Amino acid sequence: MPNIVLLAGDGIGPEIMAEAARVLDRVNVQFSLGLNTEHCLIGGAAIDATGEPLPDETLAKAKLSDAVLLGAVGGPKWDALPMDKRPEKGLLKIRAGMDLFANLRPALLYPELASASTLKEEVVSGLDLLIVRELIGGIYFGEPRGIEGELGQRVGFNTDRYSEPEIERIGRIAFDAAMARNKKLCSVDKANVLEVTVLWREVMERLSHDYPDVELSHMYVDNAAMQLVRAPKQFDVMVTGNLFGDILSDAAAMLTGSIGMLPSASLNSDKQGLYEPCHGSAPDIAGQDLANPLATILSVSMMLLHSLNAPKAAASIETAVKQVLASGLRTQDIATGASGEQIVGCRAMGEAVLKALN
Ligand code: NAD
Repeated sequence: MPNIVLLAGDGIGPEIMAEAARVLDRVNVQFSLGLNTEHCLIGGAAIDATGEPLPDETLAKAKLSDAVLLGAVGGPKWDALPMDKRPEKGLLKIRAGMDLFANLRPALLYPELASASTLKEEVVSGLDLLIVRELIGGIYFGEPRGIEGELGQRVGFNTDRYSEPEIERIGRIAFDAAMARNKKLCSVDKANVLEVTVLWREVMERLSHDYPDVELSHMYVDNAAMQLVRAPKQFDVMVTGNLFGDILSDAAAMLTGSIGMLPSASLNSDKQGLYEPCHGSAPDIAGQDLANPLATILSVSMMLLHSLNAPKAAASIETAVKQVLASGLRTQDIATGASGEQIVGCRAMGEAVLKALN
């Protein structure tokens, strides 16, 4: 029986988790998935209860689970704590503890929300791309690193390194994802300057022999940034390292104009995953029934697809979300003021998705 760990976290976390959990319960019954769910503590809520942002019990249960669904962590209450005791540390620890090396961030713009983007509607309407980012290697983790030397003459340095196996395992995730989509993969590097990405490009080329149906292209990161805002619909799947992926995935997220809509997945080599919305805990709107639960609900859909081998259940959630948007329901963050829109709260938005699932 598959086990799912639910980590509501802080701020709007409990509100969006409640709606996502209701959706998960519903598809569990509808599709006879036999899923077991259990709530555990992370972030500020865990600090208040145990003194630790990621209690050992939570990590142990997460490691034994098939998938983890997370709301969000953090908030002003815990901002004064030392760095390694802050809620966000819980997130970094669980990612490392579960060896989640592959971060998948779709940027999908529903036609109904095209006017929410800061880009022209014709540039972004119908956008559907996936960024695959390596999450636990590269310059964020490379050694040596530090700041050395005498005051006034100090030198700061980091090391960007990837081994061939590290590149290969993220490459395979990206090629597999492209196979399940439109079979186009763009690998982003800086192979004209950085040796680490010369190796990256070589490995991607080598892997492409195993995926003859996927059209592989390469792009320098500076051009990729430009192309993402010039003509983002040219992309299907993009794969890149930790640093470039961090930046490009945020740029891609903003193309959709609405952070409350974006889910994400982080996977390890057993396809065990942590699923979470791309946004944070939004303390400014917490406890007011204003949060958009759709990013978390769509994270449930990703979880069903990538970790639980339930593509039909996953698709049914996506269809339900599309229906709800088409009916004009909007939380305040995605409202554009267009006629036919009806502003609702977090709870009512979750309720509408449940109704559409019937
Ligand atoms: P944020 O994403 O929480 O909020 C940015 C803005 O977007 C706010 O105005 C917020 O109201 C709005 N927003 C975010 N999610 C929304 C939703 N679902 N519906 C409607 N509006 C939404 O980012 P921030 O303000 O920079 O950070 C707040 C806290 O969250 C900080 O403590 C930060 O460390 C933490 N954080 C956590 C995560 C995570 O848990 N993965 C990620 C980013 C930030």
